[in-house]
Amino acid sequence: MKSRRKFLKLTALGTAAVISNPIIASENKEGKTFEISKKIIKPIVVSTWNHGVAANAASWKILSKGGTALDAVEVGVRVTESDPNNMSVGLGGLPDREGIVTLDACIMDENNNCGAVAFIQDIENPISVARKVMEDTPHVMLAGEGARQFAFEKGFKKTNLLTPKAKEAWEKWKKKSKYQPIINSENHDTIGLLALDAHGNLSGACTTSGMAYKIHGRVGDSPIIGAGLFVDNEIGAACATGMGEAVIRVAGSAIVVELMRNGKSPYEACKEAVDRVIKKHKDLTNLQVGFLALNKNGEVGGYSVYAGFNYAVQTKTQNELVDAKYNREW
Ligand code: ASP
Repeated sequence: MKSRRKFLKLTALGTAAVISNPIIASENKEGKTFEISKKIIKPIVVSTWNHGVAANAASWKILSKGGTALDAVEVGVRVTESDPNNMSVGLGGLPDREGIVTLDACIMDENNNCGAVAFIQDIENPISVARKVMEDTPHVMLAGEGARQFAFEKGFKKTNLLTPKAKEAWEKWKKKSKYQPIINSENHDTIGLLALDAHGNLSGACTTSGMAYKIHGRVGDSPIIGAGLFVDNEIGAACATGMGEAVIRVAGSAIVVELMRNGKSPYEACKEAVDRVIKKHKDLTNLQVGFLALNKNGEVGGYSVYAGFNYAVQTKTQNELVDAKYNREW
């Protein structure tokens, strides 16, 4: 399996040395449950899509100094959230069909603590609000106006998330949209970021502006623990991107982790979860879903329905964008 993967060296990063493939396929021995038997690659941070490179770099600053995976995942995805040029996450994200930017995010640590915000508005870094929900409340998820008010109480500033560029794109969409939200390869790209720290602990974060031009009030998979993100410190972590509705229907990220528990490598687990998405949907038109997984050994894998999904990997010796394998071409 390893030899079939295509690795792209990030020449733009200059110092990134590609020494060896960090991804070692786990044996799927019948009757054998998951166990740590190989040399563990840690710390390591992985995240979805091209924007994962900058997010990983921020996470790496923490991980390389012995910091926690939890801090690393939050700091990493904040970079993507705060980038006004990124049109699928946080500030600058494409709005819903009413022209309103609504954000979804969640975070999970090595002790199964988790926090999430859904349908939150006017807040640049929903991942940090999700962490506050996790740490400062007895709840897991806050939504909408309640989440927004909670964020203000916690000192988050009101921010206009609709950039001129996103507004222009929405106005163009409105002209010939028939007011129908449609997902395709251009109008989505959540960041899911998973980290294994030097202490051997896993955490994950997932944040998005969701499906562009969605119906006002729509919430995708990204803030839902078990769908957009799942972490089990005994086994591994997984996150999802693509059409959230399809991910939710198969409890995507939780399934990926469960498949790893049953002995699958991250790649095999992601592939089987994608196969399940395909099996459960008759119409696969525009139905892109991608999963990314990291196990306790620091092994990584990803897989998607359609070509085009990629993810960024950073370790002490690696800094790469990897093209995930896929089921079909567009
Ligand atoms: N999964 C996200 C959602 O459905 C979109 C994406 O990954 O791009 O909201």
